Amino acid sequence: MALEGRCMRCKTNREMKSLRLEKTKRGTYLARGICTKCGTKMAKILSVEQAQKYK
Ligand SMILES: [Zn+2]
Repeated sequence: MALEGRCMRCKTNREMKSLRLEKTKRGTYLARGICTKCGTKMAKILSVEQAQKYK
């Protein structure tokens, strides 16, 4: 399932590839990925509910 995040280089929302989820100390999740267009690293904070869709 694709996840969109904001790419700082494209300055728009892009799909993230190579998606990895990390659990934060606060119990939320951090999704890390790479912009499909330019290859810039992206990160997006996810709630637990959102994160469960991408596991
Ligand atoms: Zn980009």
